[in-house]
Amino acid sequence: MSHRLVIFDTTLRDGEQSPGASMNLEEKVRMARQIDALGVDVIEAGFPMASEDDYRAVQAVAREVRRPVIAALARTTPADIERAWRAIEPAARPRIHTFVATSDLHMQHKLRRSREEVFDMAVEAVRLAKSFTPDVEFSAEDATRSDVDFLRRVVAAAVEAGATTINIPDTVGYTIPGEFAGIIGTLRERVPGIGNVVLSVHCHNDLGLAVANSLAAVEAGARQVECTVNGIGERAGNASLEELVMALYVRRDVLPYVTGVVTTEIYKSSQLLSAITGMHVQANKAVVGKNAFAHEAGIHQDGVLKERRTYEIMTPESVGIKSNRLVLGKHSGRHALGKKLQDLGYGLSRPELDRAYARFIEIADLKKEIFDEDLIAIVHDGMREIPETFALKLLHATAGSQRPSTATVTLEAEGRDEVACAIGDGPVAAAYNAIDQITRVRGRLLDYSIRAVSRGRDAMGEVSVHVEFSGRAFTGKAASTDVVDASARAYLHAVNKALHLSRSLSPPSETVVAAALPRIADAPMAPRAKAAPAPPPTSAAAGDLRQTGGRQASDTFVRLINLV
Ligand SMILES: [Zn+2]
Repeated sequence: MSHRLVIFDTTLRDGEQSPGASMNLEEKVRMARQIDALGVDVIEAGFPMASEDDYRAVQAVAREVRRPVIAALARTTPADIERAWRAIEPAARPRIHTFVATSDLHMQHKLRRSREEVFDMAVEAVRLAKSFTPDVEFSAEDATRSDVDFLRRVVAAAVEAGATTINIPDTVGYTIPGEFAGIIGTLRERVPGIGNVVLSVHCHNDLGLAVANSLAAVEAGARQVECTVNGIGERAGNASLEELVMALYVRRDVLPYVTGVVTTEIYKSSQLLSAITGMHVQANKAVVGKNAFAHEAGIHQDGVLKERRTYEIMTPESVGIKSNRLVLGKHSGRHALGKKLQDLGYGLSRPELDRAYARFIEIADLKKEIFDEDLIAIVHDGMREIPETFALKLLHATAGSQRPSTATVTLEAEGRDEVACAIGDGPVAAAYNAIDQITRVRGRLLDYSIRAVSRGRDAMGEVSVHVEFSGRAFTGKAASTDVVDASARAYLHAVNKALHLSRSLSPPSETVVAAALPRIADAPMAPRAKAAPAPPPTSAAAGDLRQTGGRQASDTFVRLINLV
């Protein structure tokens, strides 16, 4: 039996479903490229039936990431499977991943179907998927709470129908290692033909056992493991890719399995995901947490200085953490910055480098020492894949023990400057109120966090926000030595994303969204869009639609965004 494990990354599907982790198309593609560099075998890019933008994101990943298998999730209905197929059809190696629940609890209360009906649904779904692509994965949702004999029958039928990977999910993170190994062992013994397919596991972390359960399953014969970067995912998350891979690597003496993962890409993948979603990993998180390699106790520090291995079972370098060296100053040129970023693993395009350099010069004027972490924050700050409908040009805020605070903001929109002044409980609230006055987009702040990127009083502050517009949350992020400036730009980042999404959904949704613009951006937004030199073809349609079917279209938009 082969000891090569298939690493199936579902950061973009299960991970993206977790609260606050939603990504837009550009962010998904960027993350998919990094996961590709990480060397995983399969990328599950999304659930195309969930929404129009999920469908388009899966399609974009399928087109642009060519090495790994690209999987799309589908329930057992023909509509789901056909849509999944259309989304991944452009992939070099497409996989349809179809699933149905097999536990009595789910069948009775969620699906309201009998065992026999579910059995037939599974078989028909695999057959239909197989008519599109030879690579078909079948998952028995809630497998660990299913009757083992029924599970065995469904799995046998799915294999018979042509599934090439059989996935056994611990959907609610309920199982424990010994029990899970027993289920995998039973299936291996009692399902005819199981030796010809890849047995997979998908574990959730509700009891903190996702990685332990996955490893137990591997020892019992599973050869594909589904996991996510930083362990993000529904509720407490999925098995964490970095923990799983490093456990296999560090304990290769007793776990003789190999993966294709390039471990030195782990830290960068973790950082990129945090940067995109604004979800920071906890300091004591295994492998990628800020303290994962920090030795605080005197005895430990003494030991590590004498011999690293006394308290270190793996090196920070093995997961791609570079030492925190002072690198560049204000006299460093664009070329030096480009080279340094390359060393840190960020190959930037010319416009990206230009943007990063401009920001670098601004920061270098304010901050004596620039560390690697600062540079990474600068790069991520400059990652604006979406057009900046509104750009911050000037900000002046007052703060102190006397309330309220005031802020004056100048934003540039389509070549025009607009100024607004507002008050608020603090300088950030005042700045946000002023921004809202100009954009006429009122966001509801769901979450706000700030952290110092590196050390010292002149450290850059990195601000992450989650802002809700028309019932849908968008993330925004920015870094600056001035935290009010970072806060304002992070907020604008989210505003620009919301506007970009509302404009980018294409026909028939294009017109739908244009009509919904007044919902997102109140009426005065439409004339501005109309006056824009660059198309938006949506604006003319918006006018038409508002007179005709505007209301209906706008409802459709709300439905679209709520589905995600
Ligand atoms: Zn899951």
